[in-house]
Amino acid sequence: MKKIITDLAVKGQKVLMRVDFNVPMKDGKITDENRIIQALPSIKYVLENGGKAIVFSHLGKVKTEEDLAKRDISPVAIRLAEVLGKPVKFINATRGIELETAINEMKEGEVVMFQNTRYEDLVEKKESKNDSELGKYWASLGDLFVNDAFGTAHRAHASNVGIAENIGEGKTAAGFLMEKEIKFIGGVVSNPDRPLIAILGGAKVSDKIGVIENLLDKADKVLVGGAMMFTFLKAQGKNIGNSLVEDDKIELAKELLLKGKGKLILPIDTVIVKEFNNDAEYSTVSVDAIPDGVMGLDVGIGTVELFSKEILGAKTVIWNGPMGVFEMSNFAKGTIGVCEAIANLTGATTIIGGGDSAAAAIQLGYADKFTHISTGGGASLEYLEGKSLPGVESISNKN
Ligand code: ADP
Ligand code: MG
Repeated sequence: MKKIITDLAVKGQKVLMRVDFNVPMKDGKITDENRIIQALPSIKYVLENGGKAIVFSHLGKVKTEEDLAKRDISPVAIRLAEVLGKPVKFINATRGIELETAINEMKEGEVVMFQNTRYEDLVEKKESKNDSELGKYWASLGDLFVNDAFGTAHRAHASNVGIAENIGEGKTAAGFLMEKEIKFIGGVVSNPDRPLIAILGGAKVSDKIGVIENLLDKADKVLVGGAMMFTFLKAQGKNIGNSLVEDDKIELAKELLLKGKGKLILPIDTVIVKEFNNDAEYSTVSVDAIPDGVMGLDVGIGTVELFSKEILGAKTVIWNGPMGVFEMSNFAKGTIGVCEAIANLTGATTIIGGGDSAAAAIQLGYADKFTHISTGGGASLEYLEGKSLPGVESISNKN
């Protein structure tokens, strides 16, 4: 068990808070503030309990001098102050006397935020390579460390692992967002309520080999849709026309089919078209009757029924990857159908672990029907692969 923020005595303490403020920006404007909102519970907890919150995050990558201006995180500090309803003192540096003075002058319930941690990557990759001097320095600025940046947890950087290694025994805890991700995404692979049904889709088998392999071990059923279904269908010797396929993954798909016998369930029908276009004429055919010259862009209604039946008795569902090209309305029905089947479950833990699947659920209006929608793309994939995440590992254990 990992320590969580409520296990720390924050009153009067300088609490270093690694959050995920890696928000999309256009011309210096934040285009989606979801990550700022998601970080609020942990920051508010520290402030309401008399702590001093020193907040920081990476924002994109910093490789050149021009990136410094492009990746300036100060707009986030302005927005944070608005949504917190409190001043946020922004320090335009990642180290130095101005930052140190600002921190030392903090009173209980105040917030200091400093510049993009990846500014430390400009000359050599100090942040991203977990430079030991940098982790030690940042740790020296605070008394306690809260890591709430799940999206970075699959990387050992100075601002997560480096600080945790240097702040001292028992002084690092997971923030509320990190806690949720550990509980739900970690819970899928460690001790799920059964039956555990995994639904995998999306673009490529190659993106998700590790996830498929691990979930074939851990889940009771693995349902596969999306473009990756065609690599499996071709591995079974079926004609797939011009559907998206990874020919170099056919052998692997054969192995997985063998390993997953009785567990791995493939679509029985698909929606086909001649062109990749929402206006193209479409029809549904059996996966045994895909003609030449067409591509499958969605699973058919028969598959939605089959998958819905499998989902029905589930106690835990993990969904990663849309069933079809859901961005086009004529090829969104498979994704909608499966999304509905999961959303209608009662008494089950339902989790989405992929960026596009999350977007699909939100777009379809089902977001609040799920127990948990993961915020970490790469991190949740690696977690589902069964890998241990350095950012999570470095959090103190509960004693
Ligand atoms: P996630 O982000 O949820 O992990 P992916 O990034 O793996 O999902 O895949 C999402 C993409 O897969 C979507 O853009 C979708 O259009 C595409 N896709 C799904 N099914 C097909 C298909 N049959 N043919 C082509 N693209 C597909
Ligand atoms: Mg994606």
